[in-house]
Amino acid sequence: RAFNFNAGPAALPLEVLEQAQEQFVEYKGAGMSLMEMSHRGAIYEGVHQEAEQLLRELMGIPDNYKVLFLQGGASTQFAMVPMNLLQPGKVASYVATGSWAAKAISEAKLFGETQIAASSEADKFMRIPSASELNVPAEAAYLHLTSNETIEGTQWAEYPDTGLVPLVGDMSSDILCRPLNVSQFGLIYAGAQKNLGPSGVTIAVIREDLIGTPSMPVPTMLRYSTHAKNDSLYNTPPTFAIYMTNLVLNWVKAQGGTAAVEKINLEKASLLYDTIDASNGFFRGCAQEGSRSIMNVTFRLPSEELEKLFVKESEAEGFVGLKGHRSVGGLRASIYNAVPRSSVQALAGFMNEFQRRHG
Ligand code: PLP
Repeated sequence: RAFNFNAGPAALPLEVLEQAQEQFVEYKGAGMSLMEMSHRGAIYEGVHQEAEQLLRELMGIPDNYKVLFLQGGASTQFAMVPMNLLQPGKVASYVATGSWAAKAISEAKLFGETQIAASSEADKFMRIPSASELNVPAEAAYLHLTSNETIEGTQWAEYPDTGLVPLVGDMSSDILCRPLNVSQFGLIYAGAQKNLGPSGVTIAVIREDLIGTPSMPVPTMLRYSTHAKNDSLYNTPPTFAIYMTNLVLNWVKAQGGTAAVEKINLEKASLLYDTIDASNGFFRGCAQEGSRSIMNVTFRLPSEELEKLFVKESEAEGFVGLKGHRSVGGLRASIYNAVPRSSVQALAGFMNEFQRRHG
């Protein structure tokens, strides 16, 4: 298999793919694939409930939170959050940390007043603002942050304490990468296609008191209350994506849960950042120290020509997905939970070899 460093959809654990392959045509003697079954039948409902229970267990989700399986990607959450949580006389507060935060902010502007609690734009979004920089107005309906900026390669090391203002987190690219205190948040959402499974399902974890009647007209499918009341079975859910997510959650549990996964993730990230830092400036990390992501490692080479050559030569050796996002350039290695340590070791070796030949 390729050394897969894709940013998303991203690598899945090989064991999960093999299990899905084994069960694909004939699901546990049922005479059909799970994908051919009613979402109201006992077999699918069992999978649906197991996925919710496992997510609760792995993330330590308290009982007063609902777990929702939604569609439309994290991009739909950019609109659902303000549509459901913003009320007249309140403002939607955002931390501007980069490309994905910017998209969330521009959607919120469609629905009401927004405010920027802090921004790292002056530093080209290469750092996460510190808690002391945050200016959250008392009339904020919520404070939204992007836990991991997938494109810039920055990540919140610690989340801010927002007091009574509910904290909303886009965890699309780092959910389940480390232990988390869910009760710090009012709402967490994530598209599945990095750490949870294939694309097609979006997870939302929302505190029950935030699931009210929206103050603006909101289509039925875009209200959290619709999905909360119906255990995410109001309409046909993305059964295949939820089934695959359930397999991934079982895999995370078998790894030892989020604490064990974090340990491996830190080792993988160190392998790359140490290689960068030991290169005497040949490789330059994009994110500032203290804001470096353990999921997306972004770095530059001395010239764009060398960066192009790095991509070309790496592809010839079986590495996939190392070209940086078109909006920022450079290189990016996405090392989500399912990327094995051996792939990261191979990349560090390739980097050293590349520097020896071209440095
Ligand atoms: N937020 C973050 C941090 C992301 O990385 C992405 C996708 O890469 C999105 C939101 C958008 O997710 P989706 O493609 O599921 O709409």
